[in-house]
Amino acid sequence: MISAFLLERIVFILLTITVSVLAYRLYIRIFHAIRLGKPLGKIDRKDDRWKRVLLYAFGQRKMFDRPLAGLMHLFIYTAFLLTQVELIEMMIDGILGTHRILMPYTGVFYVFIVGSVELLSVLALVATTVFLLRRNVLKLPRFAHEDLRGWPFLDANLILVGEILLIIGLLMMNGADSLYLSDMPSLPLSSWLGPLLWGGLSESGLHIVSKAGWWLHMLVVYGFILYIPFSKHLHIFLAFPNAYYAPLPPKAKMSHMPEVTREIRAMFEPTAADQAAVSEEELPEFGAKDVTDLDRGSLLAAFTCTECGRCTDSCPANITGKKLSPRKIMMAVRDRAEEVIRTQSLAEKGPSDGKTLFDYISDEEIFACTTCMACVEACPVLIHPLKIIYELRRYKILTQAQGPSEWIPMFTSLENSGSVWQVQMRRTDWTGTGN
Ligand code: SF4
Ligand code: SF4
Repeated sequence: MISAFLLERIVFILLTITVSVLAYRLYIRIFHAIRLGKPLGKIDRKDDRWKRVLLYAFGQRKMFDRPLAGLMHLFIYTAFLLTQVELIEMMIDGILGTHRILMPYTGVFYVFIVGSVELLSVLALVATTVFLLRRNVLKLPRFAHEDLRGWPFLDANLILVGEILLIIGLLMMNGADSLYLSDMPSLPLSSWLGPLLWGGLSESGLHIVSKAGWWLHMLVVYGFILYIPFSKHLHIFLAFPNAYYAPLPPKAKMSHMPEVTREIRAMFEPTAADQAAVSEEELPEFGAKDVTDLDRGSLLAAFTCTECGRCTDSCPANITGKKLSPRKIMMAVRDRAEEVIRTQSLAEKGPSDGKTLFDYISDEEIFACTTCMACVEACPVLIHPLKIIYELRRYKILTQAQGPSEWIPMFTSLENSGSVWQVQMRRTDWTGTGN
């Protein structure tokens, strides 16, 4: 007959295998969704890119543009990182049927890690509570914004509640262990919290509390692993590659359109090759009408977006009551990429549902953008919403010849005189460079 002890191990091992298989399937879908975009081409300035990973992804530098929120986020982030060490031990324990297997071998390092996790967990608990209050009681405008209506609002709350459950599970286990494990080191919190909460329990009662805390923590961790691919919290993984692949300064630089370059060159400095290429070329499509026309960097950014709303909060178009919200642009790109991957078979080359990104993002939104870059400056994870807006506009204006009617005189003037102001003067004359 199988003992309860062996049964618990078998259940945990089967659960771990099931979660691993499901997680693989879910995360590989995100990978495929990002790969719907066009390849990024040559990745240059690799040293600069690694510095950005260290500074902005590991170092959270931009979070501190808003110091209090940055500090709170830092508590949660460092607690998350350090808890991984304890989590490895908990997983080994679950598989081998041991308890605190690393404790006898790691001495003072163990006390340091587990003690730090406890202290950071308390700080993370405070931060999580503040974050919940900001969203649900104080209703800060960027969290009460219509972009987050429905699922995104619930998603943020679910994760925060999950984080609280993680901390409760950990403190239950540590507190009970501090009372009945003879070699348990004295930890800053559980050495007094344990006696306070569980002081009157028998050894078997303490064992049950410790096990319940362990299972609560592990079940929430496994729940998170399966839930995160559906959540804005993908940023905990994707912020790192996104910081690497994000556009480097100068941030306002627009990407070239090789078809246009070729055509202009064929007009001004005609070479036989260019003229042949232009005359043989089918009428090209400019810009992007769907996620498959965007580059993979933009799709990675969409899945990285934390939905924090700092971009929308600083967007002059949004502030002055326009429909445009850069956060919503990023959310729309992600929703559309998910829809494409859901509705197309892997054998298909492109979207097959007859929809485009313009079913998610209206002309009114993209033409309200002043290209001021405030959203790019504000984003803590180096996302560039404007890059996507540029591409959507290019499609509308260059491919579909659509756009606000007020812009037409400007286009005509540029075409005829090289000036936006309908004066016979090249717009670069004021530089005196003769260019
Ligand atoms: S670049 Fe456009 S979307 Fe970004 S803040 Fe400026 S107006 Fe808003
Ligand atoms: S684009 Fe950046 S600033 Fe805007 S919501 Fe997403 S993470 Fe926040």
